[in-house]
Amino acid sequence: MSYLREMILKHGQVFPNNVLKVDSFLNHQIDPIVIEEIEKEFYKYFGDRSITKVLTIESSGIAPALLVAHHLGVPMLFAKKAEPSTLAKEDKYVTSVHSYTKNVTSNVLISKEYLSANDKVLIIDDFLANGQAALGLVDLVEQAGGETVGVGICIEKSFQPGRQYLEAKGVDVFSICRIQSLENGKVTFLNE
Ligand code: 5GP
Repeated sequence: MSYLREMILKHGQVFPNNVLKVDSFLNHQIDPIVIEEIEKEFYKYFGDRSITKVLTIESSGIAPALLVAHHLGVPMLFAKKAEPSTLAKEDKYVTSVHSYTKNVTSNVLISKEYLSANDKVLIIDDFLANGQAALGLVDLVEQAGGETVGVGICIEKSFQPGRQYLEAKGVDVFSICRIQSLENGKVTFLNE
């Protein structure tokens, strides 16, 4: 059993609306051993795809994205949720993302300086639910004229349609853990 799966079973808490709380090792306090394992799996799957940049969204995707970028020897870029006062409108790519956990829609952005048509981008995020965060990041790559080579997810809630939406766009999705159900407060994995 992967260490991530073990930690989910030991410490994950199921909240209403199918939200899994993993604050003790991924979303607030971060266990470096979990991140190290996740990074190795992403590298094994995506490592040979001539990736030039790893892209995530702040904040929980940053830790795994940074480690995999380090291993690949490329920069890690994170989409910002807050508008930096130092960035002019014409200098950024913007997309709108609906937050599953906060139930609000907001703009996320990256500076045009850091993403170009030459980039082959690996997108990383902590969770995949309805796919809005990942689709927003794919959109930012498209706006730059770059190529999304894949999406790497730490915890996929496979009973929600995020993977379906991404695959319909031709995106290769690889998840470390795939959850089949959170019914009755119990975590059940796919392929258990
Ligand atoms: P999506 O955009 O795919 O609907 O949701 C993914 C985003 O929402 C992730 O970036 C993550 O921050 C958050 N999220 C979605 N589901 C969960 C969940 O069950 N637990 C936690 N902690 N975050 C979630």
